[in-house]
Amino acid sequence: PPLYIQRYARVIEHCKAGQYRNIADFGAAELTFVQYLKNLDFVNQIFAVDIDRNLLDSQKHRCRPQMFDYLNKRDEPLNISVLCGSVLEFDTRLYDLDCICAIELIEHLEKDDVEKFTAALFGRYQPKNVIITTPNKDFNVLFEFKPGQMRHWDHKFEWTREEFSTFCEGVRTKYDYKYTLFGVGDPPCEDQEVGPCSQGAIFTRGTAQLGPSPLRKKAGPDVYETLYSADY
Ligand code: SAM
Repeated sequence: PPLYIQRYARVIEHCKAGQYRNIADFGAAELTFVQYLKNLDFVNQIFAVDIDRNLLDSQKHRCRPQMFDYLNKRDEPLNISVLCGSVLEFDTRLYDLDCICAIELIEHLEKDDVEKFTAALFGRYQPKNVIITTPNKDFNVLFEFKPGQMRHWDHKFEWTREEFSTFCEGVRTKYDYKYTLFGVGDPPCEDQEVGPCSQGAIFTRGTAQLGPSPLRKKAGPDVYETLYSADY
């Protein structure tokens, strides 16, 4: 399967292993990953967040229940909410979730905003788990790129494995999260040293087993605009 499907599959594996019930997809774009999440029968809340209103408006119909969903009733109810806003901001509805996924999002943020994103994600949202994926720049030597060229016109940076590890270490020491790294997209046998095409990390909050985070904030006003909400 194409790399993006392999990525989704890996993230879904983690969601299954953790039996996450409430999940946010940050940088949800065309809402494709949400289509995979909603097939998990133990999930009862999905928040799809993106800053691109036009994109969400044009794709939100993908979250509408189909005849299949009415005929095959879920054991667990599910709500999918499509929210427009920036992941640098904080919306109390998404506080202390089981998992926040950010698949190929971070490299679309300005370098200065990476720190704000990290502070919002690990410092304020404080989900029990976070899954981040991003391109592995070490792999780019296998592409015939011009100097400085990146994989997508909107990428603000791409990280080598070492740079991504430094980022993860920063999270571990500043916020109480431990992490494990993973890769998606194997390199050719003769080029093993470049590593996988995509790199990822799954972070787990130090207090994940203790229930809600001790710093629970009072419910505040909705910061993100709800563009669509569907109950299954
Ligand atoms: N996660 C998607 C997937 O795997 O199918 C792909 C993500 S796409 C490459 C990056 C998305 O991040 C875009 O839809 C863009 O609008 C969104 N984005 C960029 N900056 C954002 C921000 N500050 N807040 C929310 N979304 C943002």
